[in-house]
Amino acid sequence: MDQSQSIPTVAMTRSACFHAKVPLLSCLGLPFLIPLCPSFPGLLSFSSSSSAFCLYRFLARLDSCRHDNSRHGSNLPPTPEAQQLPALKVWNSLTKSKTPFIPIDPAGKKVSWYACGPTVYDDSHLGHARNYVSTDIIRRIMRDYFKFDVHFVMNITDVDDKIILRARQQHLFNEFVTINPTVTPDVLDTAKKAYSAYIKKNLSLLSPDLAPSEYQNEVEKAYATVLSGGALAGNEKAGDDEAKVKMHIKTVASAAKVLAQAEASTAADPALFAESFYSSAQDVLLPYLDALKGALIDANDHGIFTKLTRKYEERFMNDMRDLNVLDPDELTRVTEYGPEIADFVERIVKNNFGYVTEDGSVYFDINAFEGAGHKYARLEPWSRSDNKLAAEGEGALTSKTSEKRGASDFALWKSSKPGEPSWDSSWGKGRPGWHIECSAMASARLGQQMDIHSGGIDLAFPHHDNELAQSEAYFHNHEQWVNYFLHMGHLSIQGSKMSKSLKNFTTIREALEKEQWTSRSLRITFLLGGWKDGVEITDELVSACSSWEDKVNNFFIKVKDSAALQGSASPDNTFGADLEAAKTAVDGYLCDSFNTVGAMNAISELITKYNTADKATINPNDVKAAAQFVTRLVNIFGLNGAAPADTTEIGWSGIDVPEEAKPFILPLSTMRDTLRQAARSKEGISAQVIEQATKESASQDVSDAAKPYAEVLSNFRASASALQSSDTAGKEILALCDRVRDIDLFDLGLYLEDRDNLPALIRPVTREMIQAREEKAERARQKVQAQKAKEEEALKKLEKGKLSHLEMFRTSEYSAWDDEGLPTRDTAGEEITKSRAKKLRKDWERQKKAHEAWLASQAK
Ligand SMILES: [Zn+2]
Repeated sequence: MDQSQSIPTVAMTRSACFHAKVPLLSCLGLPFLIPLCPSFPGLLSFSSSSSAFCLYRFLARLDSCRHDNSRHGSNLPPTPEAQQLPALKVWNSLTKSKTPFIPIDPAGKKVSWYACGPTVYDDSHLGHARNYVSTDIIRRIMRDYFKFDVHFVMNITDVDDKIILRARQQHLFNEFVTINPTVTPDVLDTAKKAYSAYIKKNLSLLSPDLAPSEYQNEVEKAYATVLSGGALAGNEKAGDDEAKVKMHIKTVASAAKVLAQAEASTAADPALFAESFYSSAQDVLLPYLDALKGALIDANDHGIFTKLTRKYEERFMNDMRDLNVLDPDELTRVTEYGPEIADFVERIVKNNFGYVTEDGSVYFDINAFEGAGHKYARLEPWSRSDNKLAAEGEGALTSKTSEKRGASDFALWKSSKPGEPSWDSSWGKGRPGWHIECSAMASARLGQQMDIHSGGIDLAFPHHDNELAQSEAYFHNHEQWVNYFLHMGHLSIQGSKMSKSLKNFTTIREALEKEQWTSRSLRITFLLGGWKDGVEITDELVSACSSWEDKVNNFFIKVKDSAALQGSASPDNTFGADLEAAKTAVDGYLCDSFNTVGAMNAISELITKYNTADKATINPNDVKAAAQFVTRLVNIFGLNGAAPADTTEIGWSGIDVPEEAKPFILPLSTMRDTLRQAARSKEGISAQVIEQATKESASQDVSDAAKPYAEVLSNFRASASALQSSDTAGKEILALCDRVRDIDLFDLGLYLEDRDNLPALIRPVTREMIQAREEKAERARQKVQAQKAKEEEALKKLEKGKLSHLEMFRTSEYSAWDDEGLPTRDTAGEEITKSRAKKLRKDWERQKKAHEAWLASQAK
């Protein structure tokens, strides 16, 4: 595809750039003039009519002049390429607005990007997928659509409080299980203490002495409100706090159950019981064992920690590849940047923005920082007094100190306590605080200024705000460390955000293995959700995604069929115009801060236009161009594996008939088309046609993979051939044709889509088709059930009529009857009252009718 058509560039020339002032009425409708930036003589002249672009580009240049004067001057004038920047604006968390994207590179080509990576102590869940896939989508758009040369650096946090705790706990737990392979009274005693300690710490409404056998009853009483979806005392509505409590309730419930079992000691097989005991009690044992022995382990043995981090780093990278997320260009591990980090801290202290405490920890001095004219909490000024967020950022192992100069001062360097890994520094043995690693590593790799820094929205404060403060403190007097901060929105399910600490997550591998999601469907969800806003997975969103995927699937399958690209005698250009409109729309959306929601909808609308266009007059060249355009976009969005953006291919993976099936499906489809056409014709199908169509072709070798297809072909041929002498051949042939399409081939993942005046389209079955078939089967099942219920009801009614009206009152309740069996006297011999007789006759009449119906049914 011609790039100049699809990539928006504003080609600036230097020919007409010497106006002193440029009227901006046409850009903004504002009655004022803006002076021309002297460092960008060519800035306000351009061949495009995009006047608004000229203004923001100009303002952005002015803005960047402000924080980086050094860039202008000797580097100018920019090379011709530099003057071809796309009209891209990005939502920048720093300015909280959409800002024109101007790279630091004077050539306008290179883009430096640092992304905060994972803390590797557990498997990644769908919330992480949301962050990394959305980041990948933007990275790919920058690279493949806007043609920037993106240098993407990501870190791996492989030392941190959570990692230390998890690694130590896991180490101690494994040791405990090895020493105690069966559940002895001692083990039981330890587990009960762990259970009590867990309750004491996390479920304060319960007594720590509560007997495990009584736990379930008591917890349901004490936490009834939370368990039924209500909020904890003091909270307005249920949220993360309540989700956390529910998680603790579940953790203790599982331990309480096995503890009660162990106390009753009814287990037959001790080894088997030990396995279920440990797996159920593990989560209460882990923190307890760590509290007992955590400080005693040999923390010089970093292997205890790297065993955990290397494992989860590898699993994370594999998960990312499974999600088609591009590898970073550079990966930085905290454990490999010890000296750089220590140096970084040292210079901050030297610049008087950090101080050392008695135990050898180093803190950032927010007051001194602000006193020097800097601003703290630039990203989220409203969060700066949020102690809960700040404490979470500091980590669970940070020791309380009274030496902090300001309550919000955060750790740059933490002295290591026994049981915690450490590195040497001028303040003694310690390890980096969380935020410093990114400041140090990003600066080590990308220098004192970078274009983009990204991460999940929960990193904005305190992590990124602290990173900003540290880096500004380090580079003192150099204001702009990061030009664009991009924060990916959260992923939530049922309103609660997904996080490891809530354990409400589905891991990426689980979701892919169980086929709840495919890499493609998950990415479509995020593309349709937008990158910076929260995405909530709802049934509506899932169904919107699957319709989008199906629509594109069908489009590709149709346009790949040679029939779709056959010439037309008098081509109509309407669809060509639709395609141009779609290109413009998509370009506008992508320039508008990577608005993938708009772009995805524009693709969908273009396909609708194709679907409704008159195929007899549509220009096949337009169809081909549209197919290539859609292919290019799905490749850019990462929806098609490693397929390159610039390709002349059409379609994406999963729409092709398997190679091994082709030698059997093609003749089968042709045979079926012939038979079906004849059976539906006015003349009807003849024995000769059947004989001719089902004639055996030369036999061929059948590989194992091809066997199922070969079988369907040979069964169809045999069944059709057997119908040569049938009187009702036409009807039966049509039934066979339906069966092979709807059942035999469908079950093999293939479908024959019958078309008017064209051979059937051979295509793979999509998820939506499977769903539709399931729904149809369900409806049929319900119909059968309803029919059966109706019949049973009728039968029951009929059975009621078995008793003759003449006999119905001949019971001990009465003592005399008339000819028709109607009672005249009751048991006591009293005459039946008139009103009672009237009522009895009514019942009798009803029974008479029912009995007559029953008699009639018996006569049949
Ligand atoms: Zn970071």
